Amino acid sequence: MLLTITYTGEETQNLGYLLHKNPYRPQAFDLNHGKAYVFYTEISHERTTAALLLDINPVDLARGKADSGAAGAGGLFDYVNDRPYASSSFMSTAISKVFGTALSGRADSRQALSDSPLDLSASVTMLPCRDTEKLNAVFQPLGYAIRYETFSADDSFARWGDSKYVNLEIAGKVRLRDLLKHLYVLIPVFDMQKHYWVGEDEVDKLLRHGEDWLAGHPEKEYITRQYLHRHRRLVDMAIERLTGEAAERPAKNLNARRLAGIVQTLKERGVKSVIDLGCGEGNLLQLLVKERQFAYIAGVDVSYSTLRRADEKLHLEQAAGSALSQRLKLIQGSLMYRDERFSGYDAACVIEVIEHLDTARLAAFERVLFQFAKPPLVVITTPNKEYNAHYAKLDGDLRHYDHRFEWTRREFSDWAARTAEKFGYSVALSQIGDADETCGAPTQMGVFSL
Ligand code: SAH
Repeated sequence: MLLTITYTGEETQNLGYLLHKNPYRPQAFDLNHGKAYVFYTEISHERTTAALLLDINPVDLARGKADSGAAGAGGLFDYVNDRPYASSSFMSTAISKVFGTALSGRADSRQALSDSPLDLSASVTMLPCRDTEKLNAVFQPLGYAIRYETFSADDSFARWGDSKYVNLEIAGKVRLRDLLKHLYVLIPVFDMQKHYWVGEDEVDKLLRHGEDWLAGHPEKEYITRQYLHRHRRLVDMAIERLTGEAAERPAKNLNARRLAGIVQTLKERGVKSVIDLGCGEGNLLQLLVKERQFAYIAGVDVSYSTLRRADEKLHLEQAAGSALSQRLKLIQGSLMYRDERFSGYDAACVIEVIEHLDTARLAAFERVLFQFAKPPLVVITTPNKEYNAHYAKLDGDLRHYDHRFEWTRREFSDWAARTAEKFGYSVALSQIGDADETCGAPTQMGVFSL
């Protein structure tokens, strides 16, 4: 059973760093049922190939069978089988054991290279595959050109037809970690004889290795079914999680759009100083510091550990004494209590925070913000509850376990109008994200002006 990975381009010897395997030192690894060897079959500036060879001991396999619950046919199959040479789930196990760091994408001194799509190809020998049409359907959407070679089962007996094995080669411009993840999941998809019991942790493995690509793959159901051996309960579980996670993906995108919209609003209003109340890990702060227009920026959060994360993200520690540390400060404080440190800014942002506050204490927050801090401009966003109909399966029916409430458009506009009137502000409401006719958009925003 042999897998080779070839990198073509320039300075391709770097493949050694990316795989964390020295090209000049062949290595052996013990696996449960045999050994894995890593060596390079070619090394040059233009082209470097690493090989992973598995040497599986079928007798070992039969012995381990009673306690490992391996999927064996029993009888003679235990001793005479294709496991030593066919590419199978053993290869996946070996990939994660031998190339675990490369799979995670960590490459220390060559991180930029590891993060870049490279001209990579992989060849997999003796891949069990009865349905060669599926090779295209599975690999092409991932950006690979494929070639495969079939054999007659036995040269002397043409009527036995083609063997069920192919030698497969896939080539594309991908990141190394993606290539490894694809192989990890897809080799067993074609092989279908797992050497271990298929249980719930297989669902986790599938979703973990498929995280960036499986949900959007046109053959995701086929891949999931095959990978999980058509185990009905597990397949259902995986598909449900896949589609659920896919539904949240636009949410990330939404977050970016929401923040960009806010920065735009602040810029248009000529704001020079801004305070982000409930700043969390500092996503908005990160965008604000990039804009020269904002001369003074502050972030407030009640959570110390969250502020530490923000501090790291913004590299404030290293910036001590620098211009950035003059411009930006992080404040631990609560929005429930009047605080001098919140005053004196042109604008305050309260982004996806009010829904974390107890409804009973919302009045206290209103006074802290609108009566005491009293900035000329206030931007508040909160989820639009009606839009939740778009999210598959929400716990309770809130988007986040820590939300105390979520408001419909009507509830938010009532609150905004009442609050504006009470404190002498005017308010304009808008929607952020793709709106639909019945539910509106995922996020709602109120811009309050004095
Ligand atoms: N504005 C950020 C974070 C939203 S999550 C963003 O859009 O990414 C809500 C944040 O509000 C959390 O970081 C939480 O710690 C903070 N928070 C909750 N209650 C608070 C309170 N009473 N005072 C200050 N911050 C609070």
